Amino acid sequence: MRYAETGYDLEIDLSTGNIERVERDPSLTETLLGGLGICVKTMWDRVPPETKAFDPENLLIFSAPLLVGTPAMSCNRTAVVTLSPQTNLLAYPMMGGFWAAELKYAGYDRVIFRGKSPRLVYIWIHNDKVEIRDAEHLRGKGAVEVRELIREELKEPNAAVCAIGAAGEHRNFLASIEQGRSSSSRLGGGAVMGDKNIKAIAVRGTKDINLADGAKFWAHMKDVIDYINYRNANPIPDVMTILSGIGSPQEMVHTDEKWHTENFMWGNARTRRRGFWDEKISVEWPKTQLSAIKRLISCFNCPQHCGALISFRDVPRFKQKCFTKMTYCMGAYVDDLAFNFSISQKATEYGLDGFGTPQCLAMAVELREAGILTEEDFAGTDEYPPCPPAEDKEGTFYWLLDRFALRQGIGDIMADGTYWMGKRIGKGAEVYAHNTIKKHEQLPLKLGTIDPIYYLMYTTNEKISITQIEGNWPQAAFPTMEQRERFIKDWPQLPDDHFKQYLLDWEPRGENSIPYYPKPHMCSEIVDWMEMLHNIDDATGFCCGMSSFCLKPPYHIHNIPKLVSAATGMDLDEAGIKKIVNRSRNLHRAFNLMRGMTRADEVPPEDHWKRRDHEYEEKLLDTYYLYKGWNLDGVPTRERLEELDLGYVADELEKRGILKNG
Ligand code: SF4
Repeated sequence: MRYAETGYDLEIDLSTGNIERVERDPSLTETLLGGLGICVKTMWDRVPPETKAFDPENLLIFSAPLLVGTPAMSCNRTAVVTLSPQTNLLAYPMMGGFWAAELKYAGYDRVIFRGKSPRLVYIWIHNDKVEIRDAEHLRGKGAVEVRELIREELKEPNAAVCAIGAAGEHRNFLASIEQGRSSSSRLGGGAVMGDKNIKAIAVRGTKDINLADGAKFWAHMKDVIDYINYRNANPIPDVMTILSGIGSPQEMVHTDEKWHTENFMWGNARTRRRGFWDEKISVEWPKTQLSAIKRLISCFNCPQHCGALISFRDVPRFKQKCFTKMTYCMGAYVDDLAFNFSISQKATEYGLDGFGTPQCLAMAVELREAGILTEEDFAGTDEYPPCPPAEDKEGTFYWLLDRFALRQGIGDIMADGTYWMGKRIGKGAEVYAHNTIKKHEQLPLKLGTIDPIYYLMYTTNEKISITQIEGNWPQAAFPTMEQRERFIKDWPQLPDDHFKQYLLDWEPRGENSIPYYPKPHMCSEIVDWMEMLHNIDDATGFCCGMSSFCLKPPYHIHNIPKLVSAATGMDLDEAGIKKIVNRSRNLHRAFNLMRGMTRADEVPPEDHWKRRDHEYEEKLLDTYYLYKGWNLDGVPTRERLEELDLGYVADELEKRGILKNG
C-alpha cells in the first residue's frame, strides 16, 4: 500500500488522445519526496535541453505534492511544472485552492501532458473516468466564467476546475492558470497550457488517502493547530503589520496601505510617491476596499482566509489576494482604488499575472511618452477602436490590457513581457525593461543600499521572484537590543541556535549593518535556510504562507520530517529531508544550466539598489556558490553531485562541457 501519495500518475498524450494510468516507482518518493522534486526528475529524464516551451516535447505537469489530501492543514498546493516561454528555464508556479486535493482524492498525484491537442479541449477527471472533451464552445471565455460553465455542463458543482482565459489561448507569456481561490501566475504556465490547446482541467475525487500512522500524524498536527491558534492570537511585535501574522500577506484584511503605496514604485517601477497616503486617500481607499469585499475566503483545509471574494459596483465576482489589490492603480498612476478592482477583474478573466502585467502596460505607456511607440501603434483597426489619449490613464490601461491579452497590434509585442518587448521594439526600448531578472518581471521595488541577503535570494533562486523565496529571516535589523532579544526568545522554527547571535549582532546602522553585515558566509547560511524551506514546501505541498514565507510559521524543519514520517512510513529526520531537497535543488540547477543558464544571468536589475558595490556582490556570489558545493561558475561540483547520488548529472554536465575540472 502507498501512504500519503496515491502512487499513480495520469499520462495524457494530447497529440494522440491516449490516456494512461501509470504507477510510479516508489523509490522516487524516497529520494525526492513528491511535488516539485519528482517533477524536476521527470523533466530531466524526458525533456531534452534543446526543447523550447512551445515544442510538443515540452511537458506540462500538474502535481499534487506529497502531503496534499492528508489532514495536514494548509497543505494544498499544486505545482505546475513546465518550461517557461519567457525565461526558457524550468518554471514551477504554485497555486493553492482546492484542485490538488481533489486530484489526490481522484487517485492521482500528477497529470502529465505531452504533445499538443489538434483542437481546444478540456480534461475531465472523475476518479477512474478520464475524458478529453471538446472545448471549442469555451474559446475566448474568461478563466473564472469558464469554471461555472464546465461545472454546469458536467452537472458536477463540486468539481475543482483550473482554467486559462483568452491570454493563455493567445500564448501570452504572462498568462496565468486560474482556479477560483488561487492561481498559478508566474513564468507563463498559462501560455504553455494554451499552446497545448487545453482550456481547463476539471477534477472530482471521492477516494481515500492512506496514512501510515494516523494517530501519530494527528498528534503532531494537534501541536501545529495549537501553534496556529497561538500565532493568530499573538502577532509578532516590532515588525510591519503584514509581517506580523501567518498566511499569505493579509492584504484583503488590512486597509492601511501607507507602506506599499509610499515604498513600492509606481508606473513602470519608476516613481516613489512619498506622502501619497494622505488624509483623503487614507479614508477613501479603505472605504472602497471594504465595500468591494463580499467575504474572506481560504484555500482547502486552511483557517487563514487570505483571499477575498470581490463584487464591486457592476463588476462581476472574482477573487483577489495579496498585492494585486493595488498593482494596476500603481502601474497606471491612478489614485482611485476602484479602478484596480475593476480592471483586475477583467485581467483575471483574461487569465493574467497581476504582478507582471501592469508593468508591461506601464512600459508601453512610457514608450508612447518617449515617442518610441508612435500614435500608429495606438491606432484603431476594424477589430478594435483607437487608444484613448494619454491623459486618460484608465482608458489607456484598459485599451492596452485588451491588446496585450489578445495579442492584437502592439499587444502582440507586449505579450512576451517587458524584456522581450524591449528587444523586439528596439530603438532604445531595451533600457525601459529595467526591472527583470532572467527576463522575468520583479516586484516594483527600488531601494537604497544593497541588501546582501536579498541580493543572493533575488539572483540565485530558481523561482526568479523574491516573494517566492524570502521568508523566516526578518527583512530588516531590529533597531534596539530589547527588540532583538524579544524576537529570538520565542523562535522554535530556527534550524540552529547560532542564527540567534547573527540576529542579535545585526544593526540598522554602523559596522554591523547592510551591506557588510550579515557577512557573506552568514548570508549564504541564511539564504540556504530560506531555500531549503521553500523546497520542502514545494515537495510536500504546504502553503509557504504557513511555512517558508512568513516569520515564525507553524511548519518548520523540526516538525515537517515528523509529519512526513508519520504520513508515509518513511523514517525521515532533519538531515534526511535536507539531503532530499538539496538533491532536487541541484538537479533543478543542473537542468537550467543544461539549458544555457550561466553565472552572468544571476544579476539583479541594475537600478534595484541605488548604492551598489559590484566587487562585493561578486564576493557574495562566490561565497554562496562555494557554500552550496558549486564551482565559481555556479555549477555543482562532481563531489557535491555524487554526495547527493547525482553522479549521472555530473556525467552529463561534463559531457556537455558545462562542468570542467570536477
Ligand atoms: S495561508 Fe492563505 S494562501 Fe495559504 S493556504 Fe491558507 S488561505 Fe491559502
